[in-house]
Amino acid sequence: MILSSLRLGDRLVDVRVDGGLITEIGPALGSDPDRRDFGGRWVSPGLWDHHVHFTQWALTSQRIDLSLAASAKEAADIVAGARGSTSTSEPSTGIIVGANFRDAVWPDAPSVELLDAATHGIPTVLVSADLHAVWLNTAALQRYGHAGHPTGLLKEDDAFAIHRGLDAVSDETVDSWARAAADAAARRGVVGIVDLEMAWNLGVWQRRIASGHDALRVEFTVYTHDLDRAISEGLRTGDAHGELLTMGRYKVLTDGSLNTRTAYTWEPYADGTHGVLTVPPEALLANLRRAVEAGILPDVHAIGDHANTVALDAFQQLASLPSYRGGRIEHAQLLVESDYPRFAELGVEVSVQPEHAMDDREASERFWAGRTDRLYAFRDLLDAGATLLFGSDAPVSPLDPWLGIAAAVSRERDGREPWHPEQRITRAEALAASTRTTVAVGQPADLVITDLDPLAASGDELRGMPVAATLLGGRFTFNVD
Ligand SMILES: [Zn+2]
Repeated sequence: MILSSLRLGDRLVDVRVDGGLITEIGPALGSDPDRRDFGGRWVSPGLWDHHVHFTQWALTSQRIDLSLAASAKEAADIVAGARGSTSTSEPSTGIIVGANFRDAVWPDAPSVELLDAATHGIPTVLVSADLHAVWLNTAALQRYGHAGHPTGLLKEDDAFAIHRGLDAVSDETVDSWARAAADAAARRGVVGIVDLEMAWNLGVWQRRIASGHDALRVEFTVYTHDLDRAISEGLRTGDAHGELLTMGRYKVLTDGSLNTRTAYTWEPYADGTHGVLTVPPEALLANLRRAVEAGILPDVHAIGDHANTVALDAFQQLASLPSYRGGRIEHAQLLVESDYPRFAELGVEVSVQPEHAMDDREASERFWAGRTDRLYAFRDLLDAGATLLFGSDAPVSPLDPWLGIAAAVSRERDGREPWHPEQRITRAEALAASTRTTVAVGQPADLVITDLDPLAASGDELRGMPVAATLLGGRFTFNVD
């Protein structure tokens, strides 16, 4: 196949695709019976989202959206208004589910009474935008074994346990929602995701692929509760499980989040607390070592600056192992400056979610006042030699890499003045953090074709980037024509 009339930098080229690879690039390539003309549109490598909870994202797309609720009362009102609509309750579980609330900036507190008044005895679970808290009514508290809980707002491990319970929709139903979510991602130019769902993802994706999922490449993650199984089954980072599925990393969560004030910090929050370190350093090191020795690369969730120092200290200890091939930290939101160069020194990639910088602006100014110059410090990290990987943490923000690229390039959204514009990075740097391949002969034909030039578009243009086509291994997963 020839993809004809594409802009690559300042050249107008044809791209020949054969056997899933780019085999030739040049002006006016010879004839081919299968020739698609793109009328001078721009071609770029296909996009990756390096941090997705894919089942959660598929489920969220079916749930009551609470992202606009400015108070607990408003959230309860939205639930009351949506109640009874078949699209917003889950018939197979009989539970009303809402998602994406941000209680950190609410003037009032969530309470069992408030939610009970809106839901008339139907078990109701509302999940916070950062997934670290759930708000339950009386019926749901009873159902999940927390009867008598004083506020109905559960955090951390209690919250995660309830998320897992919510996944108890039939596989067939979830897979059909997942398929719709994968197709939607392909329409935005996405060719691959790193799936950090808290599940045995190998089995989940083998099932989905067997039933016809083919819109995305998937690199899957294992968590501590499955580490023994992963090791005993011989899973190793980078191993292919079919054409589209690859074993990714072992992920450990070591602290909480900003919005729940559980991110582990050097300096205290206003109430004197420092957040929580959920895994002691010795246990963290022991688990990471076990994974690395088995050929599974480690990935540590660390949001607060102290949690990041602990994680980097662990990687420093691992670096002497013969099987150590680098690590990765998820989020790395708040850092101490002395840790910036350690990412490059220790070969630790920084997996960040630029759109969170926009979402968390108020909460950051409130809880980390005086420290926001060390928050989402992408420019400083790149200057210190770090490798950035962009992701959405969907469902925390939508699975659309253009949003993260726009946030990192512009540091602005919603017509507000830019936030810490000194941390802006270039369009090329942002695209590099969202891709894994290049447009070059011998590379996989994972491509996105756009109406605008991603290396020249404004922040708002990047946010709404019009995608004309997406190819995965030389196969169209989306084509607007
Ligand atoms: Zn996540």
